[in-house]
This record gives sequence, C-alpha cells and structure tokens, in this order.
Amino acid sequence: MMTTLPDAGLPREDILGALRAMSADDFSWQDGRLSAYAFACGQEAERIARDAFFQHFSVNALGARRAFPGLRRMEAEVVSIGLQLLRAPAGAAGFMTTGGTESILAAVRASRNAARARPGRARHRGNIVAPATAHPAFTKAADLMDLELRRVPVGGDYRSDASAMAAAMDGDTILLVGSAPCFPYGVIDRIDELSELALARDAWLHVDACVGGYIAPFARMLGHPVPDFDLALPGVRSLSADLHKFGYCPKPASTVFYRRAEDARHQAFEYDDWPSGRYVTDTVVGTRPGAAVAAAWAMLHAMGREGYLDSTRRVLDLAARYRQRYAACPGLRIVGQPHLSLMAVAADDVDLHRVGECLKARGWLPGMIREPRGLHHMLSLLHEAAIEPYFRDFDACLRAVRDAGGAADARIEVLY
Ligand SMILES: *Cc1c(COP(=O)(O)O)cnc(C)c1O
Repeated sequence: MMTTLPDAGLPREDILGALRAMSADDFSWQDGRLSAYAFACGQEAERIARDAFFQHFSVNALGARRAFPGLRRMEAEVVSIGLQLLRAPAGAAGFMTTGGTESILAAVRASRNAARARPGRARHRGNIVAPATAHPAFTKAADLMDLELRRVPVGGDYRSDASAMAAAMDGDTILLVGSAPCFPYGVIDRIDELSELALARDAWLHVDACVGGYIAPFARMLGHPVPDFDLALPGVRSLSADLHKFGYCPKPASTVFYRRAEDARHQAFEYDDWPSGRYVTDTVVGTRPGAAVAAAWAMLHAMGREGYLDSTRRVLDLAARYRQRYAACPGLRIVGQPHLSLMAVAADDVDLHRVGECLKARGWLPGMIREPRGLHHMLSLLHEAAIEPYFRDFDACLRAVRDAGGAADARIEVLY
C-alpha cells in the first residue's frame, strides 16, 4: 500500500514508536556488528555533542556569513584545530563540508579551476592520476566535472607506486591523489614520494585523509609508526579529513584544507546573474546543517587532546588484537601492513566471502574485499566489546565453510 500524508499530525509516541519499529531489523551498530557506517566514542563527549547538535538544530551554515556569525566562528575554530593537527603551514585555509565526498568534490573542483585559470588552459579537459585504491568519490568527482580519472596499480605493499603514477601523467594532468590510509587495505600511500613528484611536475597533490585525518595525528603523538602524509609535506596542496569518522562528530561533518589561501579561493562558488543578487557558497552544497558545525566544535572541545589520545590508543590496541586473532588462524593473513585500524584479511584455502555470508546470518554485517577475496574491517571503539563474540562466530563460520569444502561462491555480491 502506498503511504499517504496523514490528514492530521500523529502523536509523538506513535511517531517515535513507529520509527523504532521500522528500525527493529537493522543491524545493531551499537554492538559493533557493522564493519562501516557508524562511529562512536561512547563517552560523555558524545552526549555533549548531541546536545550541541539539537541546540543549533534549525540554523543553516549557508547563512553563516550574513545571519549566523556564531556559526562562522565555530567553523573557523574547527578548521583552525584541523589545520594544526594536520601540520599546515602559515597561510593555509580550510572549510567544513558535509562529508568526505563533498570535501573531495570541492578539492577536485579547486584543482580544476586552478589549472584552467592558467594562461591558455581554460578549455583543457584535465585528468586525475590516482592509485587504484582511491575512493570512488574521485570517480564521482571526475564524472560530475567531466575529467578523466586514471587509476594506477599499487605496489606489492598495496601503497601508491609513484613511478607508475609519474608514467601515467601527461601535460593535461591537473591532480595527483594519495590516501592516508586507503579504504580497501588501510595502508597509507607513499605521500612523501607523491609530494616530491607533485613538486617536480608542478602538479596539485590531494591527500584523502578522510578516514585517517583525525586518528593518524594522535597515533603519531602516541609514538605509533605513521608515515608522513599531511600538510607538513611541501607538495601536499589540499587534504580532506572527515570529522564524522574518527573525529566522532555527528554526521554530516568533514573538513577540507588548502596549503595556500589562494588555492582555497578556487573552491568558492559565486554567481550574480539572476534576479535575487550575489550568491556565494564556500563549498559544493547550499544549505548545510549548522547543527553539525556546532556539534563538531562541541565534540573537539569535549574530547580535547587527551580524549582523542585515549580513544586512539584504544582503537590501535583493538586493531592489534584483531590482527593477532586472525594471524592465529592457520591459512589466514592480513593484506599488506595496515597502518591504523582498517584492515583486509585474506585466505588461500577458503572463500572468506562465504564466511562473510555465514556471519551475516548470525547478525554481523562484515566488510568484504574482492582483491584479494577477503573480509574487511574499519575498527572503532564500537568493536571493542564485540571482539570475543565476533571471533566465536567467525571461528564457527570458518570451520563450517572449510568443512563444506571452502570453494569460492562467485554469486556473493560485494556491496558498500
Ligand atoms: C569515507 C571515505 C570517503 C568518503 O567519505 P563520505 O563521508 O562517505 O562521503 C573518502 N575517502 C575515504 C578513504 C573514506 O574512508
């Protein structure tokens, strides 16, 4: 039956009850049963950020310039904290956006506009050279802006191969991409090499630190080995970092940073030729939730450096425990050497996608990867309490699939 708008508004309890009932069959993210999509730090900071979100529920960051100087200040302070964490030089700039995809769209557009602003380049299409592991958001950006995206195979360590990327560049290359880390394997690309390549070839390098941007700096402070990836490297011209992942901020919240303010200006959109007057947006979207801006400010200030160091220590310990548990299973291996808490697990004698299907039947939504065929984790604090029940079910499923012969089932679809 088609749902129609009710004649009269329903009572609050009916509405909240109906929503709860509709979500009753969802996977339980609170119990760490999801491999992606949800993050939490499970601390008082989260309640504070939630209160800040609803305190600013109705305000619109589109109007920050004219109507909401408070939001403008909050955003500037969030950006300033991000710039410091990501070791930006003086003169750098940044913006809040609604997510990693928008941050990437904004940076790709800025690089394209900068390239087309050069003498004689206005009509050049332009191409992007990225490792094969780059997020699909770059393909989306290329699609939207009619740019060519060249995906280049990664090295044996699953990290970017700078010489292969150099070979893929030509006079129309407007952008190089590296990830810190990439989603599929959780390894940080050789941003140091890409930085040198970018400087040598006068290309714009964007670092996609969407998932790593608010955990890798704290991992480094803890003495964890983190390869250089941020704005401290001179060839990095822009960088995206999602507050709504390991920053634990309420969605939608991300940041995009530029080494130089003049590069940031290429991101802005301005239009004057319509009846209403000059229209300006800093980012891609128009209306943006002011609630997410206030909540991000609240989360950063509620956590503080110590809160993030503590959550990062726990996440890294947890990742080490997951790796050990997998390594203890004969025939299984971790793919490459993941730097943070994302990892892929592969097996030679058994189809881990079938193990994934078995886990799904037991209420887990496992991440999967196709190359090599395996399982994928993006571990956060939500998975801390899940480790024992997860491995109980994983061990049982692994045994069941092996007992059944373990052969690959190509019908299993890998979705994100
Ligand atoms: C999550 C992610 C993105 C996209 O971010 P959204 O917030 O989902 O739009 C881009 N790159 C990497 C590496 C990511 O993990």
